[in-house]
Amino acid sequence: MSDTNFINSIREQFPILDQKIYNKPLVYFDNAATNQKPIRVIEALDNYYKTINSNIHRGVHYLSQQATNAFEDSRRTIQQFINARHSHEIIFTRGTTESINLVASSFGKKYLKEGDTVVISTMEHHSNIVPWQMACETYGAHLKVIPIDESGTIIFSEFEKLLDHNCRIVAITHVSNTLGTVNDIKKIISAAHQKNIPVMIDGAQSISHIKIDVQELDCDLFCFSSHKMYGPMGVGVLYGKEKLLNELPPYQGGGEMIKTVTFDKTTYNELPFKFEAGTPNVGDAIALMEAIHFIQEISYETIAAHETELLEYATRELLKINDLRIFGTAVHKASVISFQLGNIHPYDVGLILDKLGIAVRTGHHCTQPLMDFYKIPGTVRASFAIYNTTQEIDILTEALNKVKIMFE
Ligand code: PMP
Repeated sequence: MSDTNFINSIREQFPILDQKIYNKPLVYFDNAATNQKPIRVIEALDNYYKTINSNIHRGVHYLSQQATNAFEDSRRTIQQFINARHSHEIIFTRGTTESINLVASSFGKKYLKEGDTVVISTMEHHSNIVPWQMACETYGAHLKVIPIDESGTIIFSEFEKLLDHNCRIVAITHVSNTLGTVNDIKKIISAAHQKNIPVMIDGAQSISHIKIDVQELDCDLFCFSSHKMYGPMGVGVLYGKEKLLNELPPYQGGGEMIKTVTFDKTTYNELPFKFEAGTPNVGDAIALMEAIHFIQEISYETIAAHETELLEYATRELLKINDLRIFGTAVHKASVISFQLGNIHPYDVGLILDKLGIAVRTGHHCTQPLMDFYKIPGTVRASFAIYNTTQEIDILTEALNKVKIMFE
């Protein structure tokens, strides 16, 4: 059992949690969409604008140097956090979506041609489907989709069949935002590498739950968003192996990404600046460093232990409710539970829960093909973070029982 005092000491760091919604204590279970920010992250952002706000890299003046140093410190902190070999393998983006668009666009331009295939899985977020569809359309390539079984687990033997001589890249999520499935990406990467196929991992949902070591995983590209790991919105990361990033053409053109410009020809800057056109989101990138320190001080072991306890408790309690069906029953799951309550529309369930102070997500969760697989329009999704408690899960179960009675 998690220590209540310890969890309370964490909750105290999140001012937003200490409020009432419709006169009920807020129960925040929409963490897979975005999780809340500890005060130290909010203060880091505030301090940046109060003390060192300035444009970076180009300025000779004091503030610009301070901002540049803090921004580059953040890059090094991220490098160490995910154990990248070099800090220039860390590219700042707006988030996972932009990181994937960068990869699909640049990789597509360099490597995709008529008849090639890009392999993704049935459980991908639209962010890891649409950019690849767009690239495939441009270059005459095709999207191939790894099938899953009813539990929401990838069928590995089917995946292996897709690793043929046409396959140029595998782009797959680490953790499903809808089902919670944790894919065995190490095994996936290793199988793809045996055929010399690079792998891009969508780490949007894993970064707040699982320690990432990009060298140990040996992934070629890894994408994540700050706002899903207790950091601010508007900033994210693309990690890429130096060699691959050097091979890829720039994504956007503009200031900072150039070495020289004449009207005849432009030469490009080196990594990481080649992929960072224009003024980056300096303040948020700096505040992200605080989010990393927050996670490191608690430790992934503690986070995983607490969230596993919440997941197991919630699964047990929710399944006591008649007619409640959980989607996503893979053996390895993150703290995400998607469910349907009898025939009640997920949106109706969500609306009533909201009136009871409980924030959940309803709908297709940007995974429409996955909804098609289960032949459902959507689910209700509760997703847990380090600050959630079993008492809050009791509030959810009680509320769901009320919803049932209202619809009976
Ligand atoms: N991939 C997955 C698995 C996600 O859950 C999300 C966010 N819901 C994204 C990609 C996109 O992340 P962002 O909106 O932060 O760019």
